[in-house]
Amino acid sequence: MGGWLGRVIRRAYYVPFCSICDQAVHPPLPSPSVCRLCLSRLPFRMDREAVGWDGPFPLFATFFYREPLTEILVSIKFAGRTDRAMALAPLMARTVLCQGLEADAIIPLPLHENRRRRRGYNQAALLAEGLSEELSIPSLDKLLVRWRDTRRQSETTSLKERLEHLEGAFRLSSGSRLPAELRGRTVLLVDDILTSGATMKEAAKPLLQTGLRPVGLVAATGRDRYRAYGEAMDQW
Ligand SMILES: [Zn+2]
Repeated sequence: MGGWLGRVIRRAYYVPFCSICDQAVHPPLPSPSVCRLCLSRLPFRMDREAVGWDGPFPLFATFFYREPLTEILVSIKFAGRTDRAMALAPLMARTVLCQGLEADAIIPLPLHENRRRRRGYNQAALLAEGLSEELSIPSLDKLLVRWRDTRRQSETTSLKERLEHLEGAFRLSSGSRLPAELRGRTVLLVDDILTSGATMKEAAKPLLQTGLRPVGLVAATGRDRYRAYGEAMDQW
């Protein structure tokens, strides 16, 4: 639930339990609903938050795409654990602050309306809403629209096919004066996972064409290989 009423309800029912392991949380912590132990297990990218990719704008990721984060993101998307999106948002906000990113608006990557209705929510919009609360930057979750209902990526066979399905899949909502008002301004384009980056690039096209300056922010990407301490020592 978004907006003012959502915030009031969430605060009224807020219990200090970790939304990952259900154990009690003892603040102060970077996220009020991630306990110290879970925090220590999350695969933070730390000094590697800037993602090396071939897109036309900078992109940042808070985590590596690996356990236990993989399971957390899956549960947000497919098991209705929307609370976990709100738990991760403050940790993603930390990336924005540490990287010195300044944005005038947050734009979540939209789902097609059919899929959003089936799921009941857009996980990217939940992350954007949490970021908006943390950073006091408005989240504009109606501005960008996914109007082509592309097939699930796993159902398509080749990369070429996937790219064809994506072509022109996003556009700005018609009749809004906001895009013109945001011309020349930086907007955070937010998603949960970045895989090939093709969706992020395609979603940014209408923003770039209107003169907005997107900066990508995702919870996780597996684009750069994670190197745990042990692996690093093996190669040393
Ligand atoms: Zn925990």
